[in-house]
Amino acid sequence: MRLLVAGGAGFIGSHLVDRLLADGFHVTAVDNLITGSLSNIAHVREHPAFEFLHHDVCHPLILDGPLDWVLNLASPASPIDYLKLPLETLRVGAMGSHSLLELAKSKGASYFFASTSEVYGDPLVHPQEESYWGNVNPIGPRSVYDEAKRYGEAITMAYHREYGLDTRIIRIFNTYGPRNRANDGRVVPSFISQALRGEPLTVFGDGSQTRSFQFVSDLVEGIRCLMDSDVAEPVNIGNPSELTVLEFARLILELTGSPSVIEHRPLPQDDPKVRRPDISRAKALLGWEPQVPVEIGLEETIRWYREQLMHSLSSPAGK
Ligand code: NAD
Ligand code: UDP
Repeated sequence: MRLLVAGGAGFIGSHLVDRLLADGFHVTAVDNLITGSLSNIAHVREHPAFEFLHHDVCHPLILDGPLDWVLNLASPASPIDYLKLPLETLRVGAMGSHSLLELAKSKGASYFFASTSEVYGDPLVHPQEESYWGNVNPIGPRSVYDEAKRYGEAITMAYHREYGLDTRIIRIFNTYGPRNRANDGRVVPSFISQALRGEPLTVFGDGSQTRSFQFVSDLVEGIRCLMDSDVAEPVNIGNPSELTVLEFARLILELTGSPSVIEHRPLPQDDPKVRRPDISRAKALLGWEPQVPVEIGLEETIRWYREQLMHSLSSPAGK
């Protein structure tokens, strides 16, 4: 079987590529490297079942030969990235989704869309179950991401209903792990990098807002379970263990043994106050639930950032 992973040079995309190659598939990764990096896939570039195409998925993709799956993970994903790239984010959610759905339809392939817990916005229902329609500010700064993903879900369901396309929609909750760019501004890479450098941990607002963090291997397993199912409606994949951002900062200080202090910075506009997945649907329909406790996943992640930091300090440029 041949699978296409759009966004395959990104943090999650590259872990998915690893898993699909290990499962014996042929994998074509497509990426325009706007927020991803070739270093994430350097170790598979010579793999005989792997190919990489440098391409912007907003433009039609002509591929020779058969294709079984189109997995669409292409999108800026961290708040810093999508606030810096508002139009690119809207475009990839709309035109990128459209061109990849057309590709799947023309090849008779199944289509998988990486959506997000951000479709619930600043939720008024807690924890969030898939039947909740969300509380999104349609004109706020985060809307470029939230509405792009909501449109991505809508067009996926339209192709499913209109053309009978075999589709999946995953709603991914905050995911962390190795290869998540240190400077992408998300809380996990930011706090770990700050702690390892001895810099203050920047807690936005009073830190009472909550998030629920999932290790990347649990997410990849969830993606595989969803691919193997026939579930067309959206499925939450996340780890329900919920922490306030302040608790999370203290946990990072403890796990890194860092002397860093905590500093408060202004809370960004429309920052969701709470977030925790209800994973009943994933448990019931996929038999999936997360396996990696946050302390264990964080230890592996911290080890990776430590190695990156040592490497950058020992490189000739000294950075
Ligand atoms: P990432 O930025 O590391 O990866 C996204 C990849 O998509 C990058 O390699 C980027 O270059 C590529 N890309 C963006 N626009 C493109 C375009 N027009 N054409 C081709 N490639 C393009 O982010 P990530 O955290 O790995 O996120 C992957 C997917 O998962 C995204 O769709 C994101 O919205 C979704 N997601 C991630 C999380 C999370 O916690 N990491 C949570 C919810 C949803
Ligand atoms: N956050 C923080 N300090 C940072 C980065 C993020 O306090 O340096 C907070 C942010 O305000 C949010 C939470 O951590 O409440 C998660 O932010 P992230 O950008 O990782 O993802 P989000 O869940 O907001 O998309």
